[in-house]
Amino acid sequence: MSGVPHQQTPHQQTPRRVIIVGGGPAGLYTAETLAAQPHTVVDLYDAMPSPGRKFLLAGRGGLNLTHSEPLDRFVTRYAPQQAWLEPMVRACPPQALRDWAAALGIETFVGTSGRVFPTDFKAAPLMRAWLRRLRGLGVHLHVRHRWTGFGAATSEGQRQVCFQTPDGPVTVAADAVVLALGGGSWARLGSDGQWMPLLEQAGVAVSPLRAANCGFLRPWSADFVTRFAGTPLKTIAVRTLDDNGTRTPWRKGEAVISADGLEGSVIYAVSRLLRQQIEHAGSADLRMDLLPDRPEAEVMALVARPRGSRSWSTHLKKVLGLDGVKLALLRECTPPGLWSSPAAVAAAVKDLPVVLSALRPLDEAISTAGGIRREALTEDLELTALPGVFCAGEMLDWEAPTGGYLLTGCYATALRAAEGVRRFLTDRTPRA
Ligand SMILES: Cc1cc2nc3c(=O)[nH]c(=O)nc-3n(C[C@H](O)[C@H](O)[C@H](O)COP(=O)(O)OP(=O)(O)OC[C@H]3O[C@@H](n4cnc5c(N)ncnc54)[C@H](O)[C@@H]3O)c2cc1C
Repeated sequence: MSGVPHQQTPHQQTPRRVIIVGGGPAGLYTAETLAAQPHTVVDLYDAMPSPGRKFLLAGRGGLNLTHSEPLDRFVTRYAPQQAWLEPMVRACPPQALRDWAAALGIETFVGTSGRVFPTDFKAAPLMRAWLRRLRGLGVHLHVRHRWTGFGAATSEGQRQVCFQTPDGPVTVAADAVVLALGGGSWARLGSDGQWMPLLEQAGVAVSPLRAANCGFLRPWSADFVTRFAGTPLKTIAVRTLDDNGTRTPWRKGEAVISADGLEGSVIYAVSRLLRQQIEHAGSADLRMDLLPDRPEAEVMALVARPRGSRSWSTHLKKVLGLDGVKLALLRECTPPGLWSSPAAVAAAVKDLPVVLSALRPLDEAISTAGGIRREALTEDLELTALPGVFCAGEMLDWEAPTGGYLLTGCYATALRAAEGVRRFLTDRTPRA
């Protein structure tokens, strides 16, 4: 082939086939964006009997689509990969997602926490409307097709995409491919991370999949578990150590005592930092303020009041209203010697050390960290090791807390991958 730039006019008239593998929100949004392009035939494949199973599960929690906070703050949620995600999120901001849902007939609203939900808190009507739109755009959906890798390129330079189906292996040729295979949690919904070795073998740099937005293990006494497993810890604040080893600001919220540790939204919010500490030091230093609405000086003064013959439990209940699970947790996480000092007890109420020993299993996590590393991809999210193959969604190596940032990140990377495919199909010389 000569070095003369290839004239694209004939190809622009010829329909180009794009194969998208993975029918989660990232794959569906890529399909929708590309199917709206002229001369583009889009086929979407998924291993499961139906697409979007994790998206539908997210609907059980109300489907937190995105967040209403100012965009400058919103983009910081993608740390430590903010620099990578920020341009993509700015090109696909929260309002664009709300407009997109509205165009599907699903109105959204901002909850008290600033999170954005569909007004009916359901994912299923949105998914039904979305699939209707995709059908209308001519997207062909193929379920029960498990991607197993790539074959040799065709003589026209197309990539051969291989699937395992109930009827045996199937190979389909494509001008471009988008992989949107999700992370590695909730394998029964399809996101099993089995794509990792396939891409690694093809020379793609990946980081191991790790739990994000997950619960943590903390061995409780048998009595504490019997009495409090499943009990919510309402109105607490937590803090931990940041990437530099400095204490983070207190974050108010709720957690839940589990049979072997802690979970819940405020724990998920600091889960990246807790995970890093466990990875580096074998344990994580979580601090809990059991009464975040009471100033420390007030707690100190009240606890220091004469106790007389009252037990500590009666005293703390009387002066602070502290009882039940919070009082039991205070006892559980402090050494017996501490109870000889009112000042130490008060300090523990406001800054209780709860040492966490491990993460709950990856498969239970709301999302996963790790995946395809940034350096394996071009700005257009094309794999440098596999030209013409683009990637989107949670399978990329970024993470974010809950709050709608995960889905927004999936849509944003899907949009970038779709734009990359469009540029690839129009700008590039077809592979020989
Ligand atoms: C309980 C729960 C609640 C959540 N709630 C929210 C929320 O409210 N807000 C929010 O922002 N995020 C939430 N999330 C996270 C969010 O659902 C995910 O981040 C998002 O679904 C990831 O989208 P994705 O398209 O990248 O991957 P996925 O949704 O995981 O989809 C990947 C798809 O690829 C398919 N696939 C995988 N491997 C293959 C293969 N080899 N061949 C063919 N197909 C394959 C799978 O079957 C699946 O359909 C929640 C997650 C969970 C578990």
